[in-house]
Amino acid sequence: MAETLFRRLALIGIGLIGSSVARIARERGDIADELVVNARTQATLDRVQVLGLADRVEGDAARAVQGADGVMLCAPVGAFAGLAAAIAPHLAPGAIVTDVGSTKMSVIRDVGPALPEGVHFVPAHPVAGTEYSGPDAGFTTLFQGRWTLVTPPPGTEEAAIVRIEELWRRCGSMVERMEPAHHDRVLAIVSHLPHLLAFTICGTADDLEDESRQQVLKFAASGFRDFTRIAASDPVMWRDIFLNNREALLEMLARFTEDAQAMARAVRWGDAEYIEDKVERGRKIRRSLIELKQA
Ligand code: NAP
Repeated sequence: MAETLFRRLALIGIGLIGSSVARIARERGDIADELVVNARTQATLDRVQVLGLADRVEGDAARAVQGADGVMLCAPVGAFAGLAAAIAPHLAPGAIVTDVGSTKMSVIRDVGPALPEGVHFVPAHPVAGTEYSGPDAGFTTLFQGRWTLVTPPPGTEEAAIVRIEELWRRCGSMVERMEPAHHDRVLAIVSHLPHLLAFTICGTADDLEDESRQQVLKFAASGFRDFTRIAASDPVMWRDIFLNNREALLEMLARFTEDAQAMARAVRWGDAEYIEDKVERGRKIRRSLIELKQA
């Protein structure tokens, strides 16, 4: 078996992502010798114990990171500034702090400056997920064949980056390094904007008169259903993502709005060619995803 990556790994937050990492670490045995888990509520910590996901649970984040050589923030990104301030004085020299947050510029802004000299900071984002949350939602194959984007700020020690990349490979993930601002723009279009549209369209349908609303649910299989799946995601997590990737998201939304207006114009003026061309582009994108095994 390969050498264990961390002597003691502390997971701060253990929902879908954190509990998937914990399950994999338990199953493989070469990610951490000891797993310490912190969450916000006692109910989650109790559940973690029932599920056997940790060697030790800690209600206090500062105590959870003491003596850990690896710390992974797995809470919603809006909680990161407070968590970083709380754990910073208790981090062991040489420890690696990493995270799984869906936005990266905000994490670098909120966590980086709080960390003491001699602690390494390697932000990362496993681009894998489901609409479920909490410690019961995780599973060991979540990251299999999916990408993890690693976004170290300039000057980060190479050995620390390599250790986090190896962690994600051991979780089954493919790994790519990316500049943090670029990450936020890419994710704005591939993830954040589609979620914004899904939440919006569900709201629009819900605002309809009672009778039409029932029809919406009855005939949802015609397309609406696919939006409702991603609209079922955790509200706190998505509130935090939207507020912490504000600029990139608003830019992609503006571009989308222009394109939607162009489509509306084509519909109004009966521009069949334009409509067909756009639908064809959609099909091509779907085919490419299937070929890349990301569908
Ligand atoms: P989740 O299932 O909703 O779990 C969130 C966890 O964070 C819970 O254990 C919660 O504890 C804990 N938490 C919340 N506030 C906290 C605080 N102030 N201190 C300590 N723990 C706190 O979330 P998730 O889906 O795993 O997402 C976690 C992170 O991964 C987020 O930053 C998200 O952006 C990122 N991410 C999510 C996905 C996805 O599809 N879900 C994909 C990639 C990355 P309690 O249960 O006690 O409240």
